[in-house]
Amino acid sequence: MTVQQEAGSGTDTSEALEVWIDQDLCTGDGICAQYAPEVFELDIDGLAYVKDADDELLQQPGASTPVPLPLLTDVVASAKECPGDCIHVRRVSDSVEVYGPDAE
Ligand code: SF4
Repeated sequence: MTVQQEAGSGTDTSEALEVWIDQDLCTGDGICAQYAPEVFELDIDGLAYVKDADDELLQQPGASTPVPLPLLTDVVASAKECPGDCIHVRRVSDSVEVYGPDAE
């Protein structure tokens, strides 16, 4: 029997995180997409959106996507540098924001 592992999810930790963008505040400068293009992308409307594991933009308001552990540093840097203060990183388990404008 062959055991196959799904690679690349990066979310199998007890502190799994997810990220979403408040497009109402996005300035469209693209800093996030420069830091973490695997997670963020600008759409033709000039605003940034998060992407799912299949590279699809998630355009529903408030849509979130898991933060792959290897990209956590880049995603956090994006949240800190975001001029719109509109990148929110929260724990999956209790939805508490850990990086972003609403983090303590
Ligand atoms: S860094 Fe912030 S303001 Fe800039 S494009 Fe990304 S989400 Fe929008």
